[in-house]
Order: sequence, then structure tokens, then C-alpha cells
Amino acid sequence: MNNDSITPPGFEGFELDPALLRAINDLGYESPTSIQDQVIPLLLAGQDLLGQAHTGTGKTAAFALPILNNLDIESRILQVLVLTPTRELAIQVAEAFVQFAKHINGVKVLPVYGGADMRNQLRALDRGVHIVVGTPGRVMDHLRRKSMRLDNLTHVVLDEADEMLQMGFQEDVEWILEHAPEDR
Ligand code: AMP
Repeated sequence: MNNDSITPPGFEGFELDPALLRAINDLGYESPTSIQDQVIPLLLAGQDLLGQAHTGTGKTAAFALPILNNLDIESRILQVLVLTPTRELAIQVAEAFVQFAKHINGVKVLPVYGGADMRNQLRALDRGVHIVVGTPGRVMDHLRRKSMRLDNLTHVVLDEADEMLQMGFQEDVEWILEHAPEDR
């Protein structure tokens, strides 16, 4: 199959996996948003960055697409942690990852938040996941239980970081990040 034919024109410039371009096409995106234009090339190149964007600007795709592009699917170990201030955002971001990854086999994404059944989360973590999207409290629970390890993270995203600070999550986020490799 010629994957080029289904690349939305505005996304041609990014060196994204054809499977991701197909998913973008399925979603009906025709051109990248401003934040996607600015952020995707930098993240693909492995840069760290602090992005500021309002909701509805396409920020989820801006970080999720390059992260998925660089994921090592063969090794089923946790590589990506996205922290969100609310469970609603955790669910929404996890669903976005699943949608973008729909043409890539074997990508495991787990939303992790308080109130959700712990046994299912433990089982999923035990089988192995690539990406966890969670609220700080529940992520801390898993780190204390050692059901989640952050030693092999390649990407950490603080989604709506300003909101997390306002909600008083700063110390929790710092504690969580102490479990990640120092250079992340
Ligand atoms: P977000 O700002 O990440 O919450 O995204 C807001 C909405 O915009 C979501 O429904 C996305 O699916 C959609 N979206 C993201 N990027 C694009 C794009 N390049 N073209 C059209 N819609 C998009």
C-alpha cells in the first residue's frame, strides 16, 4: 500500500510513521494546529520543552504523536508517564493515545486514577504497559506498592501543569519525578 496517498497534506513535513499519519487521516485532521507545527519536530528530535496552550488547540496530539513515533513497542516496559490534574483528563488523554495508535500493533496504554478498580490496574501493569496516563495520587500508590517502576521512562509529560500546581500537586509531582531517570 502507498501510505503517502493518505497523508493529510499539512502533516507531510513531519517524519511521522505512516501508521500515525493514517490515524490522523482517519480522524479527519487536514492540517496541523499551530502548537503541533511548533512542537512535533522538536519532540521528534528528542528535545525537552515546556509548552503552553489552551485546551482545544490540539496539544494532546502535539505530544502524543511524536511520543508514539519514538516508542519501543517490542519491549513492553513503561516508557511514558503523563500526569494530569483530573481523572477526566487522564481518561481523555489515554483515549487519544489509543486513537492515534490504532494502526500500530501492540501499544499498551493504561489510564490510572483514584476510584478505579485497583485489581485491573495491577493486572495490566503486571502484563506490561508502554504508556501510563494518571493522576498524581494513584501513580504514587503504585510507586509505593512497587507495582509501577519509572526507571525506564523516556518521556514525562505534565499535562495542564499550571492546573496541577493550583490544585496543590507540586510536592506529589516532585516525589513522583524522583523515581524517574535523572535526565528526564
Ligand atoms: P486538545 O487541545 O488536545 O484537547 O484537542 C482538541 C480537539 O482538537 C480534539 O478533539 C482533537 O481531536 C482535535 N484536533 C487536534 N489536532 C487537530 C488538527 N490538526 N486538525 C483538526 N482537529 C484537531
